[in-house]
Amino acid sequence: MEIISVANLKKEFDGLGVLKGISFTLNKGEVLSIIGPSGSGKSTLLRCLTQLEPIDGGTIEVCSKTMVRTTEEGKVSYANKETLKEVRLNLGLVFQSFNLFPHMSVLRNITEAQMHVLGRSKEEANQVGRSLLAKMGLEEKEKAYPCQLSGGQQQRVSIARALALNPDVLCFDEPTSALDPELTGEILKVIKDLAKEKMTMIVVTHEMSFARDISDRVIFMDDGLIVEEGTPQQLFNDPTNPRTKRFLNRYE
Ligand code: ADP
Ligand code: MG
Repeated sequence: MEIISVANLKKEFDGLGVLKGISFTLNKGEVLSIIGPSGSGKSTLLRCLTQLEPIDGGTIEVCSKTMVRTTEEGKVSYANKETLKEVRLNLGLVFQSFNLFPHMSVLRNITEAQMHVLGRSKEEANQVGRSLLAKMGLEEKEKAYPCQLSGGQQQRVSIARALALNPDVLCFDEPTSALDPELTGEILKVIKDLAKEKMTMIVVTHEMSFARDISDRVIFMDDGLIVEEGTPQQLFNDPTNPRTKRFLNRYE
């Protein structure tokens, strides 16, 4: 079942094309990795999907709902408020820089949106929050503040926060690149475990062996375009585009 469908997505900043016509689909239970050089538009793509940036052209469909489409005359037309909210809840986003609320305890970081966005009671939100903290191996930390945690622990809290809203798709934007190398593994393990549970995910990453390991499909982006797409086997072992080859050579 198709859960995300993106067609000819375009995004400009100050008149400069950053996404120049991106098309891809994602099926339920699939893990899609997006790799590519810095500045190629990977974060912008995730930000357009999660409604943090308005788009300049194309169509995005999520869970059979049209989030935004573009008419033949080129007019970008977003869905109504209600649909946009539903679509926003279909997608969770985990940022590179954690983005936790510094003045809130770990548990409150996870319960706040559950109460305000989903209307859960405090008791229910706490229960969901505690079970996710346990799943992340952080049951002892619910009263701590983000600044008292390691980067890896903070990132696990932000994954728990995203999961608490039951998204259909979880998007990660370089979830380990703000971490010291020795903390990277603990986050990759959490994402691997989610993949085993058949969580549908889009993972932007510079960890090539990780991408090869967990992905059903890999997209290589360069300069606002999808240059190549394939199974990890195809893309890493037998890339066809010279730009893909050049990029991968840097990681060998
Ligand atoms: P990546 O995540 O692949 O490194 P980004 O999506 O962050 O790439 O950026 C793609 C391009 O868009 C870059 O040239 C970047 O400078 C530009 N860009 C991103 N965000 C903004 C913004 N808010 N305003 C202007 N330019 C931006
Ligand atoms: Mg980025």
